[in-house]
Amino acid sequence: MAPSSNKASGLADRVRGIEPSGIRRIFELMATMQDPINLSIGQPHYDPPELLVEAACRAIRAGKNRYTVTQGLPEFNQRVLDEIAARHGARPQSCLLTAGVSGALVLSFLCLLDPGDEILLPDPGFVMYRHLATLCGATVRYYDVYPRSPRGRFGVDLAEVEALCSPRTKIVFVNSPSNPTGGVLTRAEIQGLCRIAERCGAYLVSDEIYDLFCYVDDYSSPVTYYDRTLLLGGFSKTYGIPGWRMGYAAGPAAVLDAMKTLQQFSFVCAPAPFQYALLEAMPAIDLAPYREQYRHKRDMIVRELHPAYELSPPEGAFYAFPRVPAGFDGEAFLQAALEQKLLVVPGKSFSTRDTHFRLSYAADDAVLQQGLAVLNGLASRAG
Ligand code: PMP
Repeated sequence: MAPSSNKASGLADRVRGIEPSGIRRIFELMATMQDPINLSIGQPHYDPPELLVEAACRAIRAGKNRYTVTQGLPEFNQRVLDEIAARHGARPQSCLLTAGVSGALVLSFLCLLDPGDEILLPDPGFVMYRHLATLCGATVRYYDVYPRSPRGRFGVDLAEVEALCSPRTKIVFVNSPSNPTGGVLTRAEIQGLCRIAERCGAYLVSDEIYDLFCYVDDYSSPVTYYDRTLLLGGFSKTYGIPGWRMGYAAGPAAVLDAMKTLQQFSFVCAPAPFQYALLEAMPAIDLAPYREQYRHKRDMIVRELHPAYELSPPEGAFYAFPRVPAGFDGEAFLQAALEQKLLVVPGKSFSTRDTHFRLSYAADDAVLQQGLAVLNGLASRAG
C-alpha cells in the first residue's frame, strides 16, 4: 500500500505494509470448495472438554457476565504464577489475563517497542509478530531457524543471533514449540538466547502457546534463566477454545503494570465467563490424552512422508514444515495441491523464503490419510 493511497483512503500510515494474512486467503478459498482436504488449520480439531463447556454455561447462567478487574480474577493470576513456578522453577513477579496470546502480543509490543527499536524474530515464524512490530515502528531482524542439513532440526545458531544484536535491540523473541515448524528449542539454545538478551539489555518475549504439545522430554522456558522474560501463554490450543480468547502474560512487574494500564484502555479484560469456567474446571481436566493423540498423528506424518519429502520430524505443536519437492516452486506446488482439493499453507506466509509449506495435523486420521496420499502422489510426479 503506497503512502499516497493511504492519503486517498484516509488510512493511517502505520497500516502501510500490513497485508491480509496468506492463511486468511486459504480460508476464503476453502469456503468456495466442496469437501476440501483441509490441512491448513491452525487450531485444534477437537471440541473443548465437556467439563469446561458445562462450567462456562454455569458461569453465564450465574451472571458472571460483567467485567472483571483489568488483570483478571486474582485467583486465576495466582494459579498461572504457581504453575509456572512449579514447572520451570522460577516465579514471575506479575501476571495479566489477556484476550488470547494475540492480546498479550499486542500489549507487550506496544509497551516495549519504540519507533526505531529492533526486534529479533525467528524465520520462519508466526505471521502476527512481524506485522505487530511494524505497527509499532520497530525494525525486524530475522534469525534463521531452518535446518543446517537435510532433515536436521529447526534450531538456532547462537552466533548468528549474537551478531544481529545491537544497542537498539529491545526484544529477542522466541516461539517454542514453533508455529510453523513444529521445532522445540533445546535447553542449551534457550540458555544461549537468555545470555544474548541479557548482554544486549533486551527483553526476551517467549510465546509458549503450544507448551503442552511437546514430544521431547526436556522442554524448557527462558523464564527459568532470565528475569527479563515475558512469558506468553494461552488456552486456545490446549483446551480447544480458540474462540474464547483466553491467554496470559507473566513477567516483570514494571512491564505487566504498563500492559495492564493499556488493557484498561483497550481490551478492558479477558472474557469474564470464560475466566470463571477455566478457573473452575482446569484442575479436573487431564490434557495428556490430547497431547498423545497429536504425538500419534505426528508419528504418522513422519512415517508416511518419508522418504518422499525432506521433513525434519516435528518435536512439538501440531505442524510439520516439509520442503516443497524438487520440480515445483512454492506457488506451483500450492496450485497442484489445490487441484486435488488439498489445502496447505505456503512457507512464504511465514518466511522470507518460499521453499517449504506448512501442514497442520490437527485433523481426523481419515482426513490426514487423504492428504498424505495427495502429497505422496505430488512428490512422485515431481520425482
Ligand atoms: N502464537 C502462536 C504461535 C500461534 O500459533 C497463535 C494462533 N495461531 C497465537 C499466538 C494466537 O493465539 P490466541 O490469540 O488464540 O491465544
